[in-house]
Amino acid sequence: MTIWDEPMGKALKAAGYAGQRGDVPIGAVVLAPNGETLAVAGNERELLQDPTAHAEVIALRRASEMLGTWHLDGCTLIVTLEPCAMCAGAAVLSRIDRIVFGALDPKAGAIASLFDVVRDPRLNHRPEVTSGVRADECGALIRDFFDKLSGGDVSEWPMEPASKAGVEQSTEGSNPSVTAK
Ligand SMILES: [Zn+2]
Repeated sequence: MTIWDEPMGKALKAAGYAGQRGDVPIGAVVLAPNGETLAVAGNERELLQDPTAHAEVIALRRASEMLGTWHLDGCTLIVTLEPCAMCAGAAVLSRIDRIVFGALDPKAGAIASLFDVVRDPRLNHRPEVTSGVRADECGALIRDFFDKLSGGDVSEWPMEPASKAGVEQSTEGSNPSVTAK
C-alpha cells in the first residue's frame, strides 16, 4: 500500500467508465498540493473523436480550470497507464510536481518505456515520477478491453511481452483493433 493507491482507485474507476463506452480504459486524476482531488477524467478519444482527448490532458485542463491557472505547481498527476509523449509533454508544461502511473505502456510510453520526456536533464522543469502503483489492475483493465474486441486481438496495445501470447503476430493492419469494432 502506498499513499497513491487510493487516488489511483479513482483513476481506475474513470478508466472503467471509459472502457464501458468504447474508449480504451485509461483514467487520470489531478491532486491539489493538499491532496484534494481537483479533477478526474477518462480517455475520451472515441467519445469526442479527438486524437488529443487522452485522460491526462483532460484532467490537466480541468484542474487548471479549477485553480484558475495553468500553473499546477505542487500538484500530482495520477494515471493508470504510462503517459504517451503528448501527455508527458503536457504534464511538463503544466509544471506539475509529480507523475504517478500504474502499468507500463511498451508501445507508446514516454516516461520509461520508449522515451523519458519528463526527466531529461536539459529540461527546466522535471516532475518526480512514481510508477507501478496498482499496475496489475491498471494493465488488466486494458488487456480485458482488447481481449473482448475482435476475439482477443490486442495488437494495438500489447500489455504483455510479445513472447507471451504472440501478440505481435497480428499487426498487419495499421490499426486493427479499432477498425474491427
Ligand atoms: Zn496520452
